[in-house]
Amino acid sequence: MDQQCIFCRIGTGDVPAELLYRDRSVFAIKDIAPRAPTHILVIPIEHYTDIAGSCSGSEQTLGRLIHVAGTLAKSQGLSEKGYRLVINQGDDGGQTVSHLHMHLLGGRRLGPEG
Ligand code: 5GP
Ligand code: ZN
Repeated sequence: MDQQCIFCRIGTGDVPAELLYRDRSVFAIKDIAPRAPTHILVIPIEHYTDIAGSCSGSEQTLGRLIHVAGTLAKSQGLSEKGYRLVINQGDDGGQTVSHLHMHLLGGRRLGPEG
């Protein structure tokens, strides 16, 4: 838990968000500034900052992110037309919140990544 971290604070309920899912290791919220008709963030409860560093030993949680994102994509009706899962890492990756998270984007034809 990092008191300065917006996703930690959403995870504890200190900061409100539109919660779509929660279990013991991850939660999912609607992105506050959606860039697609469906834009959901799937977030580990634990404050991981670096996908290659602080996440090591947390393969189960990382797997859970993908599993939950896939389940949400299905329940949001995105299975047929498709969707995109994205993790931005670091400045060049476009990461703005340093707490690891996965974007689920869908509901329109997305451009090429990068
Ligand atoms: P990143 O750029 O780090 O990959 O993604 C961070 C995402 O978090 C952005 O899409 C941004 O809109 C979203 N975000 C930032 N602050 C908040 C917040 O307070 N609530 C919610 N629901 N999303 C947020
Ligand atoms: Zn955090």
